[in-house]
Amino acid sequence: MKFAAFMIILGSCIPGQTQQPQATGNATLFLNVRVFNGKSGSLTPTTNVLVKSNTIERISTSPIDVSAFKNVTVVNAGGRVLMPGLIDAHWHAFMVSAPQMLLMTANPAYLHLLAARQAEATLMRGFTTVRDLGGPVFGLKRAIDEGVMIGPRIYPSGAFISQTSGHGDFRFAFELPRTLSGPLSHSEVEGVAAIADSPDEVRLRAREQLRQGASQIKLMAGGGVASPYNPLESTQYTEAEIRAAVEAADNWGTYVTVHAYTPRAVRQAIAAGVKCIEHGHLIDGPTAQLLAAKGIWWSLQPFLDDEDASPLVNPVSQKKALQVFAGTDNAYRLAKKYNVKTAFGTDILFDAKVASRQTAQLAKLVRWYTPAEALRMATAANGELMALSGFINPYPGKLGVIEEGALADLLLVDGNPLEDIKLLEDPARNFVVIMKDGKIYKNLLPNKQP
Ligand SMILES: [Zn+2]
Repeated sequence: MKFAAFMIILGSCIPGQTQQPQATGNATLFLNVRVFNGKSGSLTPTTNVLVKSNTIERISTSPIDVSAFKNVTVVNAGGRVLMPGLIDAHWHAFMVSAPQMLLMTANPAYLHLLAARQAEATLMRGFTTVRDLGGPVFGLKRAIDEGVMIGPRIYPSGAFISQTSGHGDFRFAFELPRTLSGPLSHSEVEGVAAIADSPDEVRLRAREQLRQGASQIKLMAGGGVASPYNPLESTQYTEAEIRAAVEAADNWGTYVTVHAYTPRAVRQAIAAGVKCIEHGHLIDGPTAQLLAAKGIWWSLQPFLDDEDASPLVNPVSQKKALQVFAGTDNAYRLAKKYNVKTAFGTDILFDAKVASRQTAQLAKLVRWYTPAEALRMATAANGELMALSGFINPYPGKLGVIEEGALADLLLVDGNPLEDIKLLEDPARNFVVIMKDGKIYKNLLPNKQP
């Protein structure tokens, strides 16, 4: 018995050794939980939560009758905190753990296997949903949704669309010049990037991603850090080019989000009709005000010059990273000051060890927010952002909240994260139950029949 419990703990910590989903049958009953519902600043009194199939069926302080169900898993939570599964609004499942040069040169099948392993680790950190902002993840998403692999729900963008010399142009110098209608570069063939110049090409590339199941379109609208061939200050694409993608997305019920750091790049994208800005660390007050006035989402990351920064081999990139780090404080201050709709994401790249700190990145938001505000951002707020995919939403239903009718993505926490957000830094220990889509992927508590 002791050995079995030990194996369960071990299984939850070692990637690849994750418990297979337990046969939950028809229902799971969480007995005696205090709920952080994703929105409220405080916990509920002790209550019971019933999950039927993949949905939160009932929340009640009175006993819930489960006699109608054939198979019921009871989680006797002993007053622990039940909260919504975490959502990372800026993720790259394909690129999170492999070093940059490996990504550009290694056998793609090998890279996809690394990505699958990392997807499992992501779920086991408590992230039940990610919005993937670039990379070939349609296959991974399908395998996870079919239950072949273990991982979070993925809102895929497919290839990120970039102009020549833009943030998504990772071609080697010897690949230039490209002849018009010339052959695609390696990263384009693999579905990492789509290099497009002119509104027509952007439209084509956007539609290609939608055809493959993209839930939103990602464009590179300004300079970036990891790409050495474009200044951080550069504005990328023209309004007409961005608008072509916006029209293609809008016709499909969804939206365009853009990578942009500077006020000018952000403003051009806003004028073209995008609904979300990724990063924006260098923007100014009036531009933040514009985001607020237009109800545009600001998907911000706590980029700081600390041990959690993604590794960059290129000195040009390292210098650009420092410029971005210097803007982080100001960006969060502006987001708060003007009450911009703010999403939480990590954008971790190129390193499995940095990726293992995904939840610690969220805990860092207490530099600017209360724990409740930080958790709300990574749950209810991010869930609202996921819903922007409209009628092509791959997971229709409410995410990021605990309420009757919402999708059952749940974490049971050993401790109160509203009081001690540092609990998040050790998900292997402190997330004692992880449920996604009504299935339990981890349970450190002993089972008890009703
Ligand atoms: Zn990114």
